[in-house]
Amino acid sequence: MRLSHFLQVNLRTKFGLLIAASQIATLAPAPAQAATEPPLLATVTAPTPSPAPMVAVPAQPKWLARQLQIEKVAYAIGTANADRCDRPIMATGLVMHDIGSYNADTRATIAQRFGLGMGFGILGVVPGSGADHAGLHAGDEIVGVDGVDLQKFGTDAITALGQHDRMTRLTGLFDTKLRQGSVQLQVRSADGVRNATLAGLPACGGRTAYVANGPINAWSDGDNIAVTEAMLEFVHNDDELAFVMAHEFAHNLLHHDMQPNRIPTWLSMFGIGSAGIKRDEVAADEYAVDLLDRTHYNARGAIPMVRRTAPLVFLDFGMTHPGVGRRIDIIETRTAYFANQRRAFDALFDLTRLASGSPLQAIPQGFGSSALLPGVAPTL
Ligand SMILES: [Zn+2]
Repeated sequence: MRLSHFLQVNLRTKFGLLIAASQIATLAPAPAQAATEPPLLATVTAPTPSPAPMVAVPAQPKWLARQLQIEKVAYAIGTANADRCDRPIMATGLVMHDIGSYNADTRATIAQRFGLGMGFGILGVVPGSGADHAGLHAGDEIVGVDGVDLQKFGTDAITALGQHDRMTRLTGLFDTKLRQGSVQLQVRSADGVRNATLAGLPACGGRTAYVANGPINAWSDGDNIAVTEAMLEFVHNDDELAFVMAHEFAHNLLHHDMQPNRIPTWLSMFGIGSAGIKRDEVAADEYAVDLLDRTHYNARGAIPMVRRTAPLVFLDFGMTHPGVGRRIDIIETRTAYFANQRRAFDALFDLTRLASGSPLQAIPQGFGSSALLPGVAPTL
């Protein structure tokens, strides 16, 4: 498996294994562990949950604000492009945690701070998502789903060291159930236990992980995408973040991690195999624009950010990634293409409306070549 990076191919980037997080259920702060040595081959085995060191929780935990920030963007890109993968995940917009995500010695503090029992606590909700529509809020605790008592669910996966197995199991359970329709949740809050109906939306591109340490970067491994704190500080707005994340979604959707005959990325430092990687990077930038075109994010809004990457020159960067000018050109060309398509569609729309003679008949159904023939009104 190959990791695809937004800015540089990993050699000096010290990181451990990608944290498996999710859009349906995300993780408590589990920064990637710094490797003692950079991996010789920049390939990574299956994502492994990292311990979640947690000493004290500030009033407004930064990791939580960051995770919500990237979940919001991931939800928008993923659900808008749900037809672009074979097996979408079911996105709910829920950001959750459970007591097993934390080390044993911090659980009492966490339980008090968040009002968290043995269910699954809601840390936040993506606005406009299924969770939002279900009336779920930060501070709620999900204690049951379709009659299953979640306070007893997966407790054998709780160990002294915080890890995410229990949350991963819940994610799997939700994913299975939501594919068949909505689920009935039992939700505990200060007001008591209530029922809520939660529906999911198919989403493509990957689950997300926030990584507290490491340099300015984002990367993907085929299923997940990770964004570092440094990258989140580097971007100035959601358009810029959306492009970074869409680029990584694109790598996943284009299966760049599974390219045959992939040259180990450390060799690319010496120019070996770098052309193939650069080709993938161009494709990911192009496809990122396609993915964003279906969202409210503006790919052109990322151009200032791409310009700011110019001083971030790494030894391998020029060989493996398109230059700043090329990346800007890709964004401009591709966004212009979609703008032209929209103009053409609008023109066609006007043409049919004129041909039909009635605004009511201008609904663009049955749009096809016949709609272009003079005097042929579209059928409603
Ligand atoms: Zn890339």
